[in-house]
Amino acid sequence: MNKYVLALDQGTTSSRAIIFDENGNIVSVGQKAFDQHFPSEGWVEHDPMDYLETEYAAISEALAKSGLSGKDISCIGITNQRETTIVWDKKTGKPVYNAIVWQCRRTAKLCDELIAAGWQDMIKEKCGLLIDAYFSATKIAWILENVPGVRARAEAGELLFGTVETWLIWNLTGGKVHVTDYSNASRTMLFNIHTLSWDEELCGLLNIPMCMLPEPVGNSQIYGYVHCADPRLAALNGMPVSGALGDQQAALLGQGCLEKGQAKNTYGTGCFTLMNAGNEPLADADRLLNTVAWNISGETVFALEGSVFNAGSSIQWLRDELQIINTAAEVSTLAETVPDNGGVYLVSAFTGLGAPHWDMYARGIIAGITRGTTRGHIARACVEGICYQVNDLLSAMNRAAGAILDLKVDGGASVSNIMMQFQSDISGIPIDRPAIVETTALGAAFAAGLACGVWDELSDIRSLRTSERIFFPHMERKEAERLIHGWNRAVERAKGWVE
Ligand code: ADP
Repeated sequence: MNKYVLALDQGTTSSRAIIFDENGNIVSVGQKAFDQHFPSEGWVEHDPMDYLETEYAAISEALAKSGLSGKDISCIGITNQRETTIVWDKKTGKPVYNAIVWQCRRTAKLCDELIAAGWQDMIKEKCGLLIDAYFSATKIAWILENVPGVRARAEAGELLFGTVETWLIWNLTGGKVHVTDYSNASRTMLFNIHTLSWDEELCGLLNIPMCMLPEPVGNSQIYGYVHCADPRLAALNGMPVSGALGDQQAALLGQGCLEKGQAKNTYGTGCFTLMNAGNEPLADADRLLNTVAWNISGETVFALEGSVFNAGSSIQWLRDELQIINTAAEVSTLAETVPDNGGVYLVSAFTGLGAPHWDMYARGIIAGITRGTTRGHIARACVEGICYQVNDLLSAMNRAAGAILDLKVDGGASVSNIMMQFQSDISGIPIDRPAIVETTALGAAFAAGLACGVWDELSDIRSLRTSERIFFPHMERKEAERLIHGWNRAVERAKGWVE
């Protein structure tokens, strides 16, 4: 029995390949970055062929480092940057346009028109999403409208659409399998999360031919087998591709958040918080997103999702613009030079505020500065500001869905002990940091291995993920509430700044 699993993590800036053993340990990693294209203000594109090239290079690097042969590896799981949109020719495999990346704002105006025309309630009810350029639907519509000849070819059934996992699976299987998993499908704004199928009315609204859409499938099942002429993949030919999840949902799974009320937060450039919301999408998710977490062994689990636009980026700002620290890690040591925030709050609304505030006109502020404010206070306010924003998301999730049990953490800034302790103090829940922080890739590997007998049941993920450290709340609730009150006042002052 082969007990290794290969996870492909196709991200926004690089492609990675990670080989896990059956205990969830990392055997080897391959990684290759690719170019970012910014053809116009606010536009972001990638070359879809770069995804293949860098992913194949990462695979051969991981294989070489591991000393394993293809025979040792049981199956392949995929996790990917979500929402990014690719349209290609079914016969030649050539993309008709670059991949339009999730960050790309080119369809913001179309989204404003959809909102003005009153479509928000219907889309929220069917897809669980708030209308935004972020999601795939308007990106597909843009390609169909703006690339010469594409609409006719799409209507003639010559073109295929896919998010990044769809593109990878189609290419890995030699063009045989055109599928999307439910977690990725639920980010397109064309997918009905109640019926787990494409929505005809929405496709009609955006004039998207349904024949170009991939078949929606579960997150842990054999989609097809590798059949690829690229010599770097020779060792993988015939291997099942048996798991796929969008990156944030993969992290929720890899963090072992199997119970309703369990949540994870990724402290990266921004923060992504997802909470397991159980087997039904919430009727009223307030201003959070309802999304499919996964469908495994026929059981669908939903997640509530919210994000903080600027989190780790505020630490980068202290380093690169204010230059009061030399490395990101120094933010913690500097913050530790003061016993508390000294009344200072830093709201890092550099590009507006996301959930639950949703204020595009907010801008960053540092509030409460006195003559005695030091660099230490600013660093501390920066660290704490990230925690308050995550806490705002957790509170919104609590209001929408009931008690959050605990928070599992990952991402570059989760190494900061002072930040994790403050998160626990302010949110009043345990903060659980895993030993292996590659939770996204682990989630994808687990979904794939579960479908191929490497693991037996969903709950096995719990034994693969071990805690490195758990932070427990020490602060009196009264003190936490006093601090949160100050934060809320600072946020009010940051809102609506741009006229
Ligand atoms: P992304 O995937 O969004 O690029 P990462 O998960 O790699 O992000 O995290 C990068 C962020 O983590 C950066 O914004 C940086 O400020 C922050 N960071 C990195 N190292 C540390 C550290 N030792 N302490 C605190 N923050 C850190």
